Amino acid sequence: MVKSISHVVKRPGRVFGDPDVEIPVAEDLTTTPGIPLREADVSFFSRVEPLETQNIEKGADRDWVWSVYSPEVADYMRGHDERMKPLVDSAEVSANLKPSGASRNGKDLTEDIRRAARELGFGEVGFTRFDRRYLFECKRSWAKFPHAICLAMEQDYDQTQSLPSLEAEHAHFDTYEFESKRGAKLADLIREMGYHAQIHSPRDPISVMIPMFVAAGLGQLGANGQLLSPHFGSRARLMMITTDAPVTYDKPVDYGIHAFCQKCLICVERCPARALVKDKVWWRGAEKNKVIYDRCRPVMAIYEGCGICMKVCPIQKFGMPAVMNHYVQTGEVLGKGTHELEGYSLHDKGYFGPGRLPNFERSFFDIPHGRREDWLFEQFKERIAGEDIPTDGELTEFARNVKSAIDKNGITRDT
Ligand code: SF4
Ligand code: SF4
Repeated sequence: MVKSISHVVKRPGRVFGDPDVEIPVAEDLTTTPGIPLREADVSFFSRVEPLETQNIEKGADRDWVWSVYSPEVADYMRGHDERMKPLVDSAEVSANLKPSGASRNGKDLTEDIRRAARELGFGEVGFTRFDRRYLFECKRSWAKFPHAICLAMEQDYDQTQSLPSLEAEHAHFDTYEFESKRGAKLADLIREMGYHAQIHSPRDPISVMIPMFVAAGLGQLGANGQLLSPHFGSRARLMMITTDAPVTYDKPVDYGIHAFCQKCLICVERCPARALVKDKVWWRGAEKNKVIYDRCRPVMAIYEGCGICMKVCPIQKFGMPAVMNHYVQTGEVLGKGTHELEGYSLHDKGYFGPGRLPNFERSFFDIPHGRREDWLFEQFKERIAGEDIPTDGELTEFARNVKSAIDKNGITRDT
């Protein structure tokens, strides 16, 4: 049954030079531009429970994953970290680089920068206020400039459809390496225009990024916890540049995703870990489907980064224009129930088509939790709950480990 259309969103084509596309949003998918927010709650939580980088907040499991990576994944990740290090190092000092050209007397540079970013290969480019409420606590002093340029780079289509696989991990992390170099070029261009440009590496961000991408109109949050961008859904890798260049902010857009996900729910139904939840909740001031991190993490670590929730998303596979047109024409979710969209394989468990999920023992989900030092204390509590009193040597060893964990938090990076 053909649906009534509420509005049509016009967006630039997938790559620079492509014609604009139109995305029809059905009336029954209309909610709000961006994401439903309770601004007072976002501000409150940022003050009393500031966000922290996963490498500190989830430090215990970030160390643990290295013990379960396959040799191939571990080798590739070590190589990636080495290749990224100079890029992350240069991003860290980029705020202090002086503009190299004369400023253009306050001329609005939004479209100059957008065009340059598109020419460099970024598929989605948007501008918004750098919202300090999403800063990580340990990087509070890093943010120097008021405007955020949100940049999304598409990762390879074919490699992504093989998720979960080492090949798909290449698509993921190779894109980080490529876009970091392109981001550095864009920052150089902004300095030549006479302004500062601070790079926020995709491997060492200073804040949560998705809320600012949504504010800049580059997509909406999907039930899989990822940004669904118009052309490639969550098959995009995100980075930001902050600047003091004069720019005009874009506005959040209602693509219909907030409501569409509740009709689709493919990612929720196909997640092997049952880590995605059907019902939206209010979380730190935003209404969303909240991922259960502790269920996702072991599957991600053991099955090559998993990413099944990305692979099975119709927006990722077919793009938003095709999916929304299909919904308007039929009232159905394009590809739902098909092996092509929903099927996947896990290396030791085989193939799972629509309606079939793997099972795991309860112990599979018993992994280290929380910060490194908190996990050490948890283990210590268990140790002294037994009958034995620790020896002086064990106490010294425990203190050394806690000190080392705390020191690591001070120097840690999201690499
Ligand atoms: S990465 Fe895998 S385990 Fe984690 S939420 Fe997505 S589908 Fe589920
Ligand atoms: S799979 Fe469906 S429910 Fe999940 S993010 Fe994609 S569109 Fe939303």
